[in-house]
Amino acid sequence: MQGNINVQTENIFPVIKKFLYSDHEIFLRELVSNAIDATQKLKTLSSRNEVKGELGDLTVEIKIDSEAKTLSVIDHGVGMTGDEVEKYINQIAFSGATDFLEKYKDVQENLIGHFGLGFYSAFMVADSVEIFTKSYSDAPAVHWTCDGSPSFTMEECDKSDRGTAIVLHIADDCKEFLEEQQVLQLLRKYCRFMPIAIRFGEESEWVDSETETEEIDDGKGGKTSRPKRVEQKKPRIINNTEPAWRKTPASLSADDYKNFYHELYPMNFEEPLFQIHLNVDYPFNLTGILFFPKIRKTIDPNRNKIQLYCNQVFVTDSVEGIVPDYLMLLHGVLDSPDIPLNVSRSYLQSDSNVKKISSHISKKVADKLEEMFKNEREDFEKKWDDIKIFVEYGMLTDEDFKKRALKFYLFKNTDGKYYSLADYRDMIKPLQTDKDNTVCYIYSTDTTEQHSYIAKAKSKGYDILLMDSVLTPHFINLLEREEEKTHFVRVDADVVEKLIPHDDNIPEKLTKEQQDTLKPIIEAEIDKEHYTVQMASLESDDQPMVITQDEWMRRYKEMAATSGGGMNFYGEMPERYNLVVNINHPLIEQVLNEQDADKQKQLVHQLTDLALLANGLLKGEALTQFVQRSIDIIK
Ligand code: ADP
Ligand code: MG
Repeated sequence: MQGNINVQTENIFPVIKKFLYSDHEIFLRELVSNAIDATQKLKTLSSRNEVKGELGDLTVEIKIDSEAKTLSVIDHGVGMTGDEVEKYINQIAFSGATDFLEKYKDVQENLIGHFGLGFYSAFMVADSVEIFTKSYSDAPAVHWTCDGSPSFTMEECDKSDRGTAIVLHIADDCKEFLEEQQVLQLLRKYCRFMPIAIRFGEESEWVDSETETEEIDDGKGGKTSRPKRVEQKKPRIINNTEPAWRKTPASLSADDYKNFYHELYPMNFEEPLFQIHLNVDYPFNLTGILFFPKIRKTIDPNRNKIQLYCNQVFVTDSVEGIVPDYLMLLHGVLDSPDIPLNVSRSYLQSDSNVKKISSHISKKVADKLEEMFKNEREDFEKKWDDIKIFVEYGMLTDEDFKKRALKFYLFKNTDGKYYSLADYRDMIKPLQTDKDNTVCYIYSTDTTEQHSYIAKAKSKGYDILLMDSVLTPHFINLLEREEEKTHFVRVDADVVEKLIPHDDNIPEKLTKEQQDTLKPIIEAEIDKEHYTVQMASLESDDQPMVITQDEWMRRYKEMAATSGGGMNFYGEMPERYNLVVNINHPLIEQVLNEQDADKQKQLVHQLTDLALLANGLLKGEALTQFVQRSIDIIK
């Protein structure tokens, strides 16, 4: 028999090639998953007793023959009768093709590599395709051929065993699909967790020989014999048919999860912190395991770690739009037949199933974290540093997650102690509430650089938080918005007396005129582009000069640096500091009273340098000069 596949599809083959060029490797996934489908159908029929007797070996096999330039996908599934080939291959498989052409004519954006073209994707890589198939029913076997034009041939043949063999005559420009390593890599990518065993070539195994022995040293100067180790070839099975995510959580141990993690990411040697096993069947179907990796201070730019499967068939590892942005920091597997795969990304984002799945995952993640916070507090604190940035990112980008996370977010102070938000507020309230009844949270972003400020603030009885993630400035804004009468201030944002504004004033030792005389003397010695001189009435045993940096200006600059665009105005402002002069300090009085101009200059220099030094701002040549000047003074 001969015929035409479908008149309207006249030009489909060049289009398949062109549109799917970058993704043409998915033909293998399509053909193997058809073979798996056919095998599973057979198993179902057998379990219902509609197919009688032994099913035999059901392993799906992939073969390449570089001489004949063919790649074959062979199964022992239900097979097809001549009528079925007519119906499913000649007619049905192509009915969507004209729609496809219409739909994607003007599409510019990337499409997920799954177009529902199924069987016909074979023509992306093959000049011609043959089908040999024999149905489980008594119908005669069929041989079908098509050379890529819309005409085909179909005739009876003498295939004797049940199942289907698809033979691809690989095109000259697709020779890579005849290379064993290339095909192996693709099978490992797309078919690694398919539910029926898939065989491809052979692999070596070293075993004890049953017949031969060899002599080895017995360790006591003599010889002993043992079975010879011999290389044995065995069929190479490329997939794990029962991946962990398809099992029930109760049947898996902590080690099973870890082993599965390493199976997923053979090149990643770090252990995951913990995982969430997803298992939903209503109102949508979703299984999967999400692992929490250690997330350090920066957000991993390589986020595409979550793999998306559809009934154990790999679809993509780019899950943007399917899971919320912050969840892309997680690793693992999601498997759902309910995520539409043959559509564009912008459509995905508005799909209601995708939205439901996304918010379900988000909720499960919050549940897990809250449960750990409540029931395994000690362990949760141990893991906190590694997941904190993840939680902060989630709170900043997902409203529902934020509401949940406010309950389990942990503050860590510079002594390494952890507190819930509510507990911490209660603890600092008595000492750290200012004259307007605002609770002031003092934080440090670097305990080494800000050491002198921390020491000072601690001596006042204040508690200092350690907030050192890249998201800190954004996150602080969020907390200030979230709770009224809350103010965050970095420990070096002001002199300690003013960190938490109270009403009590310290009497000033220098008069207004004296201060006006002093100011230009100091200004003459500093870099005015970066420093502003401020007179302040501090305790006489405080430092004579202190460097501070305005909280708001610094925070805006930091936010501009991490958010890009929009806030560039702040990002481009020069770094500005205040040089706070303690007008009650005896050394400042000494500067004012010094008659020798050189000596006065030297003293101002020495004092400003000391202040810079305490803030880690004295560097390079200025630092060298300071050391030399100090030696001269001691001499
Ligand atoms: P889909 O798999 O989405 O149905 P395909 O184009 O991949 O679309 O396949 C079309 C149909 O051809 C299948 O539904 C099935 O009925 C039939 N078919 C394809 N491959 C095989 C096979 N290896 N064994 C039996 N039937 C097959
Ligand atoms: Mg298919």
